[in-house]
Amino acid sequence: MSTVADAMRVGRVRAHAYEIPTADDEESDGTLVWRATSVLVVEVEAGGATGLGYGYCDAAAARIVERTLAGVVEGADALAPGEAWSKMQVAIRQLGQEGLAAMAASVLDIALWDLKARLLGVALCDLLPRFRDAVPAYGSGGFTSYSERELREQLGGWAADGFRSVKMKVGREPARDPARAAAARAAIGDEVELMVDANGAYRDVPQALAWAERFAGEHGVVWLEEPLSSRAVRGLRQVRERAPAGLAIAAGEYAWTLADCARLLDAAAVDVLQADVSRCGGITNLPRIDGLCRARELPFSAHCVPAVMAHAGCALESLIHTEFFFDHARAERLLFDGVVDPVDGLLRPDRSRPGLGIELKRADAERWAA
Ligand SMILES: [Mg+2]
Repeated sequence: MSTVADAMRVGRVRAHAYEIPTADDEESDGTLVWRATSVLVVEVEAGGATGLGYGYCDAAAARIVERTLAGVVEGADALAPGEAWSKMQVAIRQLGQEGLAAMAASVLDIALWDLKARLLGVALCDLLPRFRDAVPAYGSGGFTSYSERELREQLGGWAADGFRSVKMKVGREPARDPARAAAARAAIGDEVELMVDANGAYRDVPQALAWAERFAGEHGVVWLEEPLSSRAVRGLRQVRERAPAGLAIAAGEYAWTLADCARLLDAAAVDVLQADVSRCGGITNLPRIDGLCRARELPFSAHCVPAVMAHAGCALESLIHTEFFFDHARAERLLFDGVVDPVDGLLRPDRSRPGLGIELKRADAERWAA
């Protein structure tokens, strides 16, 4: 006779990789050009339920899920995602616990939390320590590949939709940025916060500081993200220490571990810490990162994966906002049913649906199989 405990063992783990061409021929930021959005989707089964996790990473991560992690997670207690998380960290030790391996483990962790919530019949946000029932989001895009007209339409559209903050990319051709920022400001008005992201494009601290002064002084910019690479911890601290009042320095989207987050915080390298749930250790690690921020009285802002952060963001006391990234919002609507639309700049998870409340549109997704 089967027992409840048997039914709560994780069954099959499946990984799917998708490549969705960008809306335009190509898109770019300060340092990268891309033509597609890569999505890893992981499904896990237990007790007749299927948990779903996803993140934005290369198809190679699907191989790590199948070869290295599935065997560790299959048979694990479906009600103990933390236990599976610890085993996954050991399993990826020889691969390096960063990069692709961290993404594979993070996405599988998201699937396991979705599975647990479905087994218990609650929304994921209600399974986690919930501090709020909606998450402030900011519109994010403003690619350096856009014309000024496209930039105005996208950022102005988000402002008209009720977003309180919007973010654009800078730093590819810095000489163009004052006109681009002026166009963005004109489109969003004076009340909406303008944020900029250089994706590590500036060559050194003096150049980063010069642009910090201009963005804040001439365009009222309140946020400068990755003026230098996230690895340049000392340089980020120097920029943060000398940046104009009212301009927050943010970084952390390439934090793979709790230690990476602690390093940025302890070096006083950021005013706001960022992290990406599909890179930094999944749902299991987010509340711990929140704890690092709370202990230092510093705010947290989540990077990308909006349909996951609509739930997980409710569990983070230090969260000030989450990123509603254009490519990811688009991909989520193409791949999943049940994705919630932002209303007045808020992502409010649907608490009447179990787990993340989203379902893979299997037949539609096949055309993007990688
Ligand atoms: Mg960024």
